Amino acid sequence: MASLLVKNVQLLATMDGARQEIENGGLYCENGFIKQVGLSSSLPQTADEVLDLTGYLVLPGLINTHHHFYQTLTRAVPAAQNANLFNWLKTLYPIWARMTPADITTSTKTALAELALSGCTTASDHLYLFPNSSRLDDEIIAAKEMGLRLHASRGSMSLGESKGGLPPDSVVDTEEAILKDSQRLIEQYHDPSPGSMTQIVLAPCSPFSVTGELMKQSAHLARQYGVHLHTHLAETQDEEAFCEQQFGHRPVAYMQSLDWVGQDVWFAHSVWVNKDEIDVFARTGCGVAHCPSSNMRLASGIAPVWEFLSAGVKLGLGVDGSASNDSSHMLAEARQAMLLARLRAGIEGASLSGSIKPILTARQVLEIATIGGARVLGRTDIGSLEAGKCADFIAINLNRLEYTGALHDPLSAAFFCAPVKVDYTVIGGRYIVKQGELISLDLPNHIQKHKKAAQRLMGG
Ligand SMILES: [Zn+2]
Repeated sequence: MASLLVKNVQLLATMDGARQEIENGGLYCENGFIKQVGLSSSLPQTADEVLDLTGYLVLPGLINTHHHFYQTLTRAVPAAQNANLFNWLKTLYPIWARMTPADITTSTKTALAELALSGCTTASDHLYLFPNSSRLDDEIIAAKEMGLRLHASRGSMSLGESKGGLPPDSVVDTEEAILKDSQRLIEQYHDPSPGSMTQIVLAPCSPFSVTGELMKQSAHLARQYGVHLHTHLAETQDEEAFCEQQFGHRPVAYMQSLDWVGQDVWFAHSVWVNKDEIDVFARTGCGVAHCPSSNMRLASGIAPVWEFLSAGVKLGLGVDGSASNDSSHMLAEARQAMLLARLRAGIEGASLSGSIKPILTARQVLEIATIGGARVLGRTDIGSLEAGKCADFIAINLNRLEYTGALHDPLSAAFFCAPVKVDYTVIGGRYIVKQGELISLDLPNHIQKHKKAAQRLMGG
């Protein structure tokens, strides 16, 4: 039995039902799960491994609900730097079409390294093109080596340019092949048990790159196996116009017409949704992955975060793909979410004279990035530090330049001050980051490998 005792934590934020924050706290874990949380003095005094975190802040591991790992290979591509979503995609599709299975492995490791070093313990990824015989397996195997929990979304594109879609025909697949591979992946990898390291999600890419029939068939298959459904939705006004023109519906109504609403569905972005549509999400249980940096980078708009929270919509945080962020830094994304929601509140408050809009707090952002994400992914075993949950946590040394002057409130320092790399990331009781170093990857060598792969893709 492997046990881990974490003691003397300056401040431990549990995110439990009472949102307890414990000074001089700690955790006692066995076999990857938390057995006890409380004051250091109340915990067993020894274990196989003892970690003294005097002077550290401990938070539940952050949960990333939307990403495209492969895009780490195409960050800041000059021709796609100053484009909106549709033009950005059209520029990048031909570059992505050159990817190989080795590129999927390499980019997965890069993204997971950045995520782990910025406090993430569970990541969802959305891979939706499979050129040159690459497969979702390439990503799943790489994530297992890295030690992060992965919700691997089997993405797909079936509506090429010749049929009125956005992507070139060369990167779309047949619906028969997509569904067959989706079923294979669920049967081979999906593990719904507590402490699961790998879950499969079915994720046709977006309304403008798949047919309604594939959406329906994917939902049917997902529900046969009890796996979640994910897609991009209501990201831009262009998409809204496309849906109205092509399907005679706004994006959310289109999803309703395809049986794509429910507790098992979450959407990335959902920037352009009105009050009635937010109510549909709340009533049916659809979750949202909020991706503030990407929405700013592509000039998509500002998602109605406060309205989602007020209506009781399940809300998680996502860094989105690294070609539209161009980073996988979870703490930075949380900070961005807090600031952007305040900007929207300010703009709306100014336009509605006399109305004072609420301000999103650091603690609310932490909630979105932890238990909010867990709810979006349909998990009850992660997102907070409580007995019975996975031993997934991060620790940040508070004695650092970025936080000096902010330690009257160490938790808020992590979100108000400049985003830092964490000192410890522990997943299922195992060190992934220890004393600021990534354990499962030789980072200097890996960076060279990733650079070469990116250069090859750009070179054609
Ligand atoms: Zn995305």
